[in-house]
Order: sequence, then C-alpha cells, then structure tokens
Amino acid sequence: MRKPIIAGNWKMNMLPGAAVDLVEGLWAQIAGFDAVEAVVCPPFVDIPAVGKALRDGSMSLGLGAQNMHWEESGAFTGEISPLMLLDLEVTHVIIGHSERRQLFGETDQGVNRKVKSALAHGLVPIMCCGESLKQRESGQTEDVVTNQVKCGLFELEPAQVSGVVVAYEPIWAIGTGKAATAGDADEVCGMVRRTVAGAFGADVGESLRVQYGGSVTPDNVSELMSMPNIDGALVGGASLKPDVFARIVRFT
Ligand code: PEP
Repeated sequence: MRKPIIAGNWKMNMLPGAAVDLVEGLWAQIAGFDAVEAVVCPPFVDIPAVGKALRDGSMSLGLGAQNMHWEESGAFTGEISPLMLLDLEVTHVIIGHSERRQLFGETDQGVNRKVKSALAHGLVPIMCCGESLKQRESGQTEDVVTNQVKCGLFELEPAQVSGVVVAYEPIWAIGTGKAATAGDADEVCGMVRRTVAGAFGADVGESLRVQYGGSVTPDNVSELMSMPNIDGALVGGASLKPDVFARIVRFT
C-alpha cells in the first residue's frame, strides 16, 4: 500500500510570523488525521520558525524545503546545503520544480545530483517533472516526462528509488486554474510508474509514490486521488489558506 502524500509548496510567500499562523491554522483542522502524509514547504527563511511551531505543537507534519544544493558546504553563494536542512529538522525537499527549471536554469543533470544528495542525507526528494503546453500540443509529453524521470533517477539503486516521490506537474496547469483532467493526469502518472518499473524493477514501480500537481483544489482533489496511479498532490496556491489546504488533505 502506498500512503498518499500531499505537500504544500508555499513558494516565495509569507514572512515567518504568517507562516507560523498558517501551519497552526492548518494543524487545527487536520490534527489526528493520519490517512495522508501531509508536508509543508515554506521558504527557507521561514523554516526555523515553522519547525519550532511543529515541535512545540507536536504536529506530525513533514517539513519540506523548496530546493537545495547537492554539496554539503563550500563556495556556492546563495545556496543551501543538505546539512543545513537537516540541522533544521527538514524531512523533505522539492527538487527540479518547473519554476526552477524555467526561471533559474536547472538541468536534468543538476536535478539528478540533488536527488542523489537528498537520499544520501536521509531527505525525501519530491522530484518534479512535467511538459509545457507546446510540448503537450506537439505530442511530446511521453518523451519529455520519461526523459526527465530517467535522467533525474540516473544511477540510483532500486532500493533508493522507492524512497523518491515523483511529482508530475504539467507546466500549463501550474497556477493557471486549469488542472489536468483526472484521466490525463493518471495516464502520465502511470507512464512515470512504468518508466520506473522498466528501469528499476516491477516492485520499485509498484512502491513508487507519484503525485499530481497543477491547480489542485478541494473541488478536484477527490477525483484526482481516486485514480489508480495518483498517490498524492503537490499544491501551490491552494496551500496558502489553512482551511483550503486542510480540505485538500482531508480529501476523502
Ligand atoms: C506548484 O507550483 O507546484 C503548483 C502545483 O502550483 P498550483 O497548485 O498553484 O498550480
């Protein structure tokens, strides 16, 4: 059984005080609900305050970062290392979000180094993949997504791959209010699973958790989550309001 995982990507929003209010408001509505692994991914500067709130309130939520460098330390101005995240009791890290690929030049090779480093440090990588509208319209979705998945997981051991979460996020659905249909999302998530099964074995494919992301809301989450290949959601805008994100986490 794959436990569903629903993560909120807060992106570059909120100062620490507001971030603490958000996580406290969220927990008030989902405390005791453990059918889903829920994760919050605040901006780096909010992580210490949110982490303290989680500990003080005994909130069993995952604490995720939105990016990290693969090295532990060194001359990498502006970067954050896995050791720094571990020191703040971070548990998860989003890697290769399309905004980082498109706006900050992240490559599949860099994503692969980050995924390897996250796993080596005991962090759960949430590795993102997804096609642009142009790529979808020109029939390239399968090539683009399978290539991103193969490159991102290159040279990993099968046992390691089971610990990765893959987030399928079609770029055209992110922040647009136009989510993929449940059928289309499931088709690509199934493709991701088959790609992983082909490269690392059927058991690994079966155990892999694949999230869908892109305009997930309380109104569409149940149908998405009912699909056989969708094991969770990566949520942007709708994770910034505690009541809305709580309804997503409690989708059942
Ligand atoms: C995201 O950025 O990961 C995302 C899915 O955003 P939104 O939910 O706002 O579409």
